[in-house]
Amino acid sequence: MFFVDVILPIPVEQAFTYRISEAEYSFIKPGMRLAVPFGKSKVYTSLAIRVHREEPRIYEAKEIEQILDETPVVGLSQLSYWKWMANYYMATLGEVMRAALPGAFLLESETILKRTGNQTSEDFDLEDEEALAILEAFEGKSILRISEVMQLLDRKKVLPIINKLIDKNLVALDQEIYEAYKPKLVKYVRLAEAYKSEEKMHEALDDLDRAPKQREVLLTFFSLQAGSKKPVKTKELQDRAQASTAQLKALIDKGIFELYEIRQDRISYKGAEDTEVKSLNEAQAGALEAIQESFNHHDVCLLHGVTASGKTEVYVNLIKRYLDQGKQVLYLLPEIALTTQLVSRLQEYFGNKLSVYHSKYTVHERVEVWNNVLNQADKAQLILGARSALFLPFSNLGLVVVDEEHENSYKQYDPAPRYQARDAAIVLAHQQGAKVLLGSATPSLETYYNATTGKYALVELKKRYGNILMPENTIVDIQDRHRKKKMNGHFSEDLLGAINDALAEGEQVILFQNRRGYSPVLECKTCGHAPQCPNCDVSLTYHRHREQLRCHYCGYHIAMLQKCMACGSAELDTKGFGTEQVEAELKELFPDLNIGRMDSDTTRGKFGFEKIITAFEQGEIDILVGTQMLTKGLDFRNVTLVGILNADNMLNIPDFRAHERSFQLIQQVSGRAGRTQKRGKVLIQSYNPHHQILQQVSVNDYEGMYHEQLEERHIYKYPPFCRLIKITLKHRDFQKIEEASAWMGQALKNVFNDQILGPEPPPISRIRNEYHRNILVKIPRKQSLEKTKKAILKVRTTFSSIAQFRSIKIVLNVDNY
Ligand code: ADP
Ligand code: ZN
Ligand code: ZN
Repeated sequence: MFFVDVILPIPVEQAFTYRISEAEYSFIKPGMRLAVPFGKSKVYTSLAIRVHREEPRIYEAKEIEQILDETPVVGLSQLSYWKWMANYYMATLGEVMRAALPGAFLLESETILKRTGNQTSEDFDLEDEEALAILEAFEGKSILRISEVMQLLDRKKVLPIINKLIDKNLVALDQEIYEAYKPKLVKYVRLAEAYKSEEKMHEALDDLDRAPKQREVLLTFFSLQAGSKKPVKTKELQDRAQASTAQLKALIDKGIFELYEIRQDRISYKGAEDTEVKSLNEAQAGALEAIQESFNHHDVCLLHGVTASGKTEVYVNLIKRYLDQGKQVLYLLPEIALTTQLVSRLQEYFGNKLSVYHSKYTVHERVEVWNNVLNQADKAQLILGARSALFLPFSNLGLVVVDEEHENSYKQYDPAPRYQARDAAIVLAHQQGAKVLLGSATPSLETYYNATTGKYALVELKKRYGNILMPENTIVDIQDRHRKKKMNGHFSEDLLGAINDALAEGEQVILFQNRRGYSPVLECKTCGHAPQCPNCDVSLTYHRHREQLRCHYCGYHIAMLQKCMACGSAELDTKGFGTEQVEAELKELFPDLNIGRMDSDTTRGKFGFEKIITAFEQGEIDILVGTQMLTKGLDFRNVTLVGILNADNMLNIPDFRAHERSFQLIQQVSGRAGRTQKRGKVLIQSYNPHHQILQQVSVNDYEGMYHEQLEERHIYKYPPFCRLIKITLKHRDFQKIEEASAWMGQALKNVFNDQILGPEPPPISRIRNEYHRNILVKIPRKQSLEKTKKAILKVRTTFSSIAQFRSIKIVLNVDNY
């Protein structure tokens, strides 16, 4: 008898064994997908990992349904990478598989399909009767489950047909329905080269004596250009000059104006010349050689370069070297949604060699990239992606660049595997014999520690490109401004003055507030009651635009209250403020300006970010208000002022990294100011202006921050001086969670003594009606991680064997920070 072991994409510990025929035995290779029955009636896509002839002892092996691939879609080296990940992050192989494979590879009986497009089956060469039957079944129905297709065709072997329909774009997986966004083409006018001299200009104005309206258009153009450095839109010009399209066209025909459109959907303020490959300046060239040299003795190098020092150009040059050697390169980014700017920059250099791997792309696109990487196609030599791109089937990887390596979105929180993509990238590179370049202006403490103690190489860029000065930082004491009545809403006179100055110069402004919504707390002035989420232990956030109170943890919402729920008083007060309120105040203060807002409320959908970023780049938005989304490596040329509305709430978050994070956030958001020519300004409003972190930020003292924070980590035993594993217990019953977490805490203390912190309720101790308790295991560097994990798993096994604890959910999070 012949058997195959498979991984199922579900959280079970072991692999499952199925029966196969002799022919299948010689055909199936590890890494091929097989459709297999599971449970009573389910069908899953599984992955073969081994064929053999040993019959399982405890259960009778079922037969597989079908082989789905002719050649493996996953290589042996990926499988061993998955094993490492499952083991290190205490997840199952099935969980890793689910995270790793594109959704389209994992069709299962519960998958929901939608009909796409309006093509009919006749448009396609579908001889297949069954495929036609499936399409017919969609009539009068918007969705179909794969299980329904199985019923329809009266058999279980349906996945290949469905794959075919997906390939032909006739049906799609449900999660793939996204709004379509067509970037609009905006038309601009500029003066023709020949008319740029003063002399020629006077000539032109004289010539236009007999066409007064055209003359007026030209003069209006000058006044628009004088008032701001922004490019002039045709529409704007026509509106201002009250001119017709024909009049504008006449000026274009005369060769005085030139019309231009924005290529793709972005504009370059310098015109076309900066699309060429840039040659590096001395500092950049030195850094590039130092990095290359460091790879002779180190596998990992940190490029610590201040904001706008030109790190991206260094990456580009390094990447080029690896591509020239025929190697694959992976460029990791914290959040792919924010990368339009980078994508177009890299496309200019690498053209078709670049592929983007994006969780918001369609099934189609993702599978295509996957297959291109698998086949080492030219199109996928350079992959730009967020953390899930680690799982692509690389076989010839030469370099991994981890951009903004300090970003916490590299950490996957839910579901398992809860991996840290930067760290996992280093393991991947090691396995593939590749090198890693980590880049940041504000490296994480762990990385900087590794780079200064010799584990990683360290290369620095200390000046901004073009010797532009770092922005000038000013801390504004808002307690003092309140006392002196120099506050207007949440704006100090200092900040308002600076905004006015920047706008007067035709420049743009970024304002940062680390909270969305209008205000996080609504409080009754009479009795002090604040409405809470019924499912979570948090107060509801007021969203004025929708007149709602919303929970940011579970999505619960109710209409805004008119009266206090507790005492009926109509006097309700809002406490604290979010981006929505900042935006509202700005609209009152500057009614003529365009105010934009970028936070997770305004950026839903595939192109949410792009729309806002493009509008800001094109000068359609004067002031952009946002949350930490604003901090991520954006390069706007016309921003000279950054205002931080309130620096205190980040500093006060109860987390051992709060200070480090605040430093990074403020430094990164200030880094958006003054990236070209003019020195930028940053105003930081705080009630606590003498806070050490604010002082350090204001003089860009990364090293001062580093040494001080490192000292604290040393004293209180936190990374990098020890490792952490966080164990979270969840249950709906308060009494039960108290008992269970006490039991688990004690059991762990019996093994690890004082290395255990907790159990304790996290700051938000109930979410979606589940109570949470955390236990933190601190593992000294010298202690074996492997043995520690084994001991934890043993405690967990005993725990789960206690009847009354069986329903408690346990989440293990390795390196949970
Ligand atoms: P960082 O990634 O360090 O924040 P960037 O790579 O975005 O910095 O560079 C900052 C700005 O300087 C960008 O607008 C970029 O186009 C410009 N720049 C950087 N290096 C060069 C170069 N060698 N030649 C021309 N412009 C450069
Ligand atoms: Zn009340
Ligand atoms: Zn809630």
